[in-house]
Amino acid sequence: MAILRIRTYPDPILRRRTKPVRAFDLKLRELVRDLFETMYQRNGLGLAANQVGVDAQVCVVDLRDGRLPPYAFINPAITARSREGIVDEEGCLSFPGYFDRVRRSRRVTVRYQDLNGEVREVELVDLAARAVQHELDHLCGVVFVQRMAVPRRLRFRIARLLGRAKFPS
Ligand code: ZN
Repeated sequence: MAILRIRTYPDPILRRRTKPVRAFDLKLRELVRDLFETMYQRNGLGLAANQVGVDAQVCVVDLRDGRLPPYAFINPAITARSREGIVDEEGCLSFPGYFDRVRRSRRVTVRYQDLNGEVREVELVDLAARAVQHELDHLCGVVFVQRMAVPRRLRFRIARLLGRAKFPS
């Protein structure tokens, strides 16, 4: 197992769409294990492969609330979402120290493959739904600032100008 280096904004890999996984092999298992390990070490709720420099549609989510299991999503896609949205505070391991409010669907259905390549589907709600939407965005090269309302995106730009050191390239 290994703790991987997390890429921070504005690393260009965060803005690129990742490639689908074809081989459900030992390398994939190792990647998933390392993603969990790195996420736990940094106290995150989710982590996507491109955040550690790997171009693959793989992400992990674990709320550690004692109710939901840890999830490893391979080649995930959202197949349904509630019209109802919730605006809440969000952070990202690739934006250390930056938090702001983002609107997300309250409920989503995710179709994905597990480590054996089996297709599965899960319906998630509230914080789990938020985490999975955030991670799936990463796999599409979308970061959470892009999901913010315009005034908050501006706030981010200003914060970045004032505190550039926070986001080394
Ligand atoms: Zn993130």
